[in-house]
Amino acid sequence: MPQVIKCVNCGYVLYKGNDLVPPREVIKKFHGKCPKCASTLNQTPISIDVQASKGR
Ligand SMILES: [Zn+2]
Repeated sequence: MPQVIKCVNCGYVLYKGNDLVPPREVIKKFHGKCPKCASTLNQTPISIDVQASKGR
């Protein structure tokens, strides 16, 4: 199941993939800032959306 990490401020997808990555690794990759809205990314302003495999 793919993991999606988004900026909660603007919804920009910071990471999407099948590998589960810790949010702080993603934050580090973007140097602590959302590339789109430039808001500071901390642990919390990130939305992790793990899409479950097929629902009903
Ligand atoms: Zn953003």
